[in-house]
Amino acid sequence: MSLVRAVLPALLALSTSLHAQTTVLRAARMVDVKRGVVVPNAVVVVQGDRITAAGADVAVPAGATVIDLGDATLLPGLIDSHTHLLQNYDPKIGGDDPNMLLTVATMSAAKRALLGAKMGREDLEAGITTVRDLGNSGWNGDVALRDAINAGWVTGPRIRASTRALSAAGGQFGGLQVDAQRLVEQEYVVISGVEDARRAVRQAFYDGADLIKVIVNTGPRVVSLDEMKTIVEEASRVRRTVAAHAIGDVATRIAAEAGVSSIEHAYTIPDDALKMMAAKHIYLVPTDYPDEFYLPPDLSPQQRAEQLVGIARFTKGSRDRLRRAMAAGVPIAFGSDEYYAIASRSRGLSSLQSLLAYAESGMTPMQIIRSATMNGAELAGLGDRVGSLEAGKLADVIAVAGDPTKDIAALVRGASFVMKGGAVIKR
Ligand SMILES: [Zn+2]
Repeated sequence: MSLVRAVLPALLALSTSLHAQTTVLRAARMVDVKRGVVVPNAVVVVQGDRITAAGADVAVPAGATVIDLGDATLLPGLIDSHTHLLQNYDPKIGGDDPNMLLTVATMSAAKRALLGAKMGREDLEAGITTVRDLGNSGWNGDVALRDAINAGWVTGPRIRASTRALSAAGGQFGGLQVDAQRLVEQEYVVISGVEDARRAVRQAFYDGADLIKVIVNTGPRVVSLDEMKTIVEEASRVRRTVAAHAIGDVATRIAAEAGVSSIEHAYTIPDDALKMMAAKHIYLVPTDYPDEFYLPPDLSPQQRAEQLVGIARFTKGSRDRLRRAMAAGVPIAFGSDEYYAIASRSRGLSSLQSLLAYAESGMTPMQIIRSATMNGAELAGLGDRVGSLEAGKLADVIAVAGDPTKDIAALVRGASFVMKGGAVIKR
């Protein structure tokens, strides 16, 4: 290799940073999520991929390109801590069981990564600039999508990928006959025993995982406390986190006692598990929705009314557990767990519906905004890079019409402007 070829890339990088484009975003207000206040006359100065200044009436540098967003609110790019970008089930086929079988049996990891590119683009356009993608991605399809986005091949959110979720026998598949059970390993890593658990975590990191996802329980199939402790030990040794799908007394206690970083769903959870979560700073990711969201398509008015009665029983329990979690001091991170195609909404807009359910549980707009920004950033291990509008952070900035600190619906309607890493994605 010649000297010029060795030195040239460094020189080019230097000249790019010296001439990095300065862009100034102005809007009627911005949300300072760390202080929990709204700042009027907002100015965010962006140089290259970073924010260099943010606040009220900050001076505009000479030669900067000014984007005036008018009567809008600037926020940090949103963070969805629980996505499945490589999964898009069809509600007309039925529920999870038939959809999972069809997806895993007929779609290659490559095809699913391309599906993920579409879902990721829809998330980004709604204002979700970072996600923790928690499995159901085929065999490392999520890693392929993450790397393609980082390389600039496709446009999408920053992805923290988990690779295949660890689980007890059968993963989350419904009953499969013997020959079909080989499909399970396309979607899950079945573990049985602590050495198996240890091996699976190391394999996940070799496969490119940023974090580990564990399905603690599916019906009566439960990952044991010893297995969970081993998983957490293996991950924390290399400063990686563990996200645990857990529902009900047994599984949530196992996850909390093992010291995972987040418990996903926990639609039912006892108070002692919530107390452990608060003491250990374990996040709850409440994948909740408004009642209407759970209705299957094409119902008669009478079927609709009947279904809503059962749905309301379920959501009342979810609202109650989020209230109890908040009262216990459990940190909350927004996670949508959206993986169905909804005819009327993009993936991103569908995911943001969760925020309405959080409001129904008594969270204030500012608490909800924090769950979808600075809390998600900390949980993703990206607290020093994203999650707030301040100098030194990556320029992930969105604007919404109106003031979401007064009415969270302003955020649920999606972003009118999106910038990711200094690049304008939507205007
Ligand atoms: Zn999920």
